Amino acid sequence: MNQPVTQLASDNYSGICPEALNYLLEANQGDAPAYGNDAWTQRATDCFRELFETDCEVFFVFNGTAANSLSLAALCQSYHSVICHENAHIETDECGGPEFASNGSKLLLARGAQGKLDPADVERLITRRSDIHYPKPKVLSVTQTTELGTIYTPDELRALRKLADQYGLKMQMDGSRFANALAELDLTPAQLSWQAGIEVLCLGGTKNGMAVGEAILFFDRELATDFAWRCKQAGQLASKMRFIAAPWLGLLETGAWLRNARHANAMAARLEQRLREIPEVNIMFPRQANSVFLELPPPVIQALHTQGWLFYTFIGVGGARLMCSWNTSPETVDQFADALQKALDSTSGVR
Ligand SMILES: *Cc1c(COP(=O)(O)O)cnc(C)c1O
Repeated sequence: MNQPVTQLASDNYSGICPEALNYLLEANQGDAPAYGNDAWTQRATDCFRELFETDCEVFFVFNGTAANSLSLAALCQSYHSVICHENAHIETDECGGPEFASNGSKLLLARGAQGKLDPADVERLITRRSDIHYPKPKVLSVTQTTELGTIYTPDELRALRKLADQYGLKMQMDGSRFANALAELDLTPAQLSWQAGIEVLCLGGTKNGMAVGEAILFFDRELATDFAWRCKQAGQLASKMRFIAAPWLGLLETGAWLRNARHANAMAARLEQRLREIPEVNIMFPRQANSVFLELPPPVIQALHTQGWLFYTFIGVGGARLMCSWNTSPETVDQFADALQKALDSTSGVR
């Protein structure tokens, strides 16, 4: 049995949303062909093509680390490099997966405020060297929503695209929270992806309400040549693929992917508003999607953890990350704000 937890730790602490679960149960009626040769996988694939308004190649894998690692490996030779933000998940949280999958393509780390790549720093990395001893820059990887909860605008993406064009780079997007960005902007999925210059999108299902599963969309179909073999070799070809594809279809067809994201964002906005009423609280980055980052004194973090509140404090930049999900309730948000106020009051002598 699950113990009840009070958490703003991550959107992957949450359970399966009803829409994903209903489709999962429906896909469990009888038997179906294996390895993606089933009707659910076909329908989910077509649904992505309709939603993104383009005839993309679609693959389903188990998790985001695999989606990023394998898609980057598909874009690189081992002597190439991938430019990403120094706080990027592919750098800090994938245990070297992209380098492993690509047989050694190196990540080059760029800086940039609020978790977003600064084009000038990206250009510095690209042009710093052109000799044979330097791993040749080949891919620009962007995270949307970023690891610091901020959102790239289409203009910002296009500025990076311009650089990519200038120097012959591909663009890959780690979209484990793409839906949260999309829900916040008044844009179509196409406008925020391929029309903004993205060639490959890793789209997150797990944090959006599924049990397991991410989708990889190749907007440039040629880049997907032999990609199915890469997935299989990496142990990422689900034989009962319908159980990943059907929940995806549930999210997409019912609109739950955007409803879930909108709800998570709204809860983070509520949290931000509550926290702004507490003068001692310093919010570190603009709240743009479903997370809020705070600077908190260590005794306050300790007090909250002791009360059972789960949240992360290790995200690269210090501070506490509070993450809302499709099922975060307004009560949880309010209880956290109250608990924080109390912890601040009761530790004020200690600090
Ligand atoms: C959660 C997350 C992923 C995927 O992580 P997995 O645990 O491998 O599914 C990828 N990128 C970002 C930015 C994430 O937050």
